[in-house]
Amino acid sequence: MNAPRKLHIKSYGCQMNVYDAQRMVDTLTHENFVETANAADADLVILNTCHIREKASEKVYSELGRLREAKDDAARAGRDMKIVVAGCVAQAEGAEIVRRAPVVDVVVGPQSYHHLPELLRRARRDGRAIETEFPVVDKFSSLAPPQPAAIRARGVTSFVTVQEGCDKFCTFCVVPYTRGAEVSRSVVKIADDVRRLADNGVREITLIGQNVNAFHGTGPDGKPWPLGKLLHHLAGIEGIARLRYSTSHPCDVDDSLIAAHRDLPALMPYLHLPVQSGSDHILAAMNRKHTIAEYHRIIEKFRAARSDMAFSSDFIVGFPSETDDDFAATLALVAEIGYASAYSFKYSPRPGTPAADMQGMVDAATMDQRLAQLQELIDSRQAAFNVGCIGKTFDVLFEQTGRRAGQIVGRSAYLQPVHVMASSDIIGRVLPVTLTGLERYSFFGDLSAEPARTGSSRHNHASLTTTTGA
Ligand code: SF4
Repeated sequence: MNAPRKLHIKSYGCQMNVYDAQRMVDTLTHENFVETANAADADLVILNTCHIREKASEKVYSELGRLREAKDDAARAGRDMKIVVAGCVAQAEGAEIVRRAPVVDVVVGPQSYHHLPELLRRARRDGRAIETEFPVVDKFSSLAPPQPAAIRARGVTSFVTVQEGCDKFCTFCVVPYTRGAEVSRSVVKIADDVRRLADNGVREITLIGQNVNAFHGTGPDGKPWPLGKLLHHLAGIEGIARLRYSTSHPCDVDDSLIAAHRDLPALMPYLHLPVQSGSDHILAAMNRKHTIAEYHRIIEKFRAARSDMAFSSDFIVGFPSETDDDFAATLALVAEIGYASAYSFKYSPRPGTPAADMQGMVDAATMDQRLAQLQELIDSRQAAFNVGCIGKTFDVLFEQTGRRAGQIVGRSAYLQPVHVMASSDIIGRVLPVTLTGLERYSFFGDLSAEPARTGSSRHNHASLTTTTGA
């Protein structure tokens, strides 16, 4: 057998890209590639790109400039380095990438990376290969499954894609154009993936999709299953201690999902539910398809189903036509919901989206001032939530050793990092920890003899009063 070739993959952006990068590695492992952390050493470099942030494509082109030098160096040393641009910038820019950066050998969109081995062969034969179609087949069916050793090396938590694409067409977002229409995987295939992960030490699964609760994959009964039913099914798989899902749209929250939070101890009581703005006028301009009153009702349903629920969200400030009153409504919403954490961004137009052509751009100084004000409020709410956790006992899934000798790090139900002094034998176990201290966003605690009272996979209904913000 020939010596393995070296693969370097750099992934940007969302958790879906992290997952896609792992699946590319799994597929190329079967082509005799091994991963290297050093791009200069690699025979194959993949940039798995993201189009969400501002100037995304410019960042890719400057990275490609650096890679051109690495490729020239490799050629001088008698090595043939291939360069692939994958992900959403590849999808959005297509052949434009090789026009601007002839150093690129393969351009492959997020729906086609299962064809990477074939595309690399085509690039060797024809000099270049580009594929940015939205094929009708489930790419996951044709991807090589991860090897047991790769699963174990990646740790006790894992993402599993259950759904891709989006039909919502929020006016600021490129996803419907780069990832295509909503497609759900079959329940049987998802359960097979989860079983394989559980058999190799994974204890926590996060189901991911651009619009994950729009999931409607075919069940073993031949009917479309909602996400709540899928979660019930997966909770029965031996070895799975925790389930999460991300990212959800408020309009796709249905009764099955609420029931799953009520009935499944393994389903963590922490939900990322983006709202983007607290103003009905801005929500309509964003085409979010719900009102703030409806969003409040959804949050109340989750809290009624499980009183230790906590929430995070995304916010955009300075969307075109956002007034002082609209922004004040966003601040009011944050104060009322009392998010455990939230992400906030200044609006920036994405070419090709309807919002990019809207009137009423908010000036840069106002955007800066609104973002600073919102972030200060979010930080204060997060701090209040965290301080309210001190002294309480939470279940923690231990994931890895910490930076200090003898320290083991895990996460609470609310994804807070928790450090304890303990033996590394506890990695992979869910154990109750009494939280004793907090340093920025990290907790310290002691393993407890008492079961957890909040955020517990044993699931009781003790309330986390700090989350209500009321
Ligand atoms: S629901 Fe999410 S992914 Fe879909 S268009 Fe809106 S912001 Fe983009």
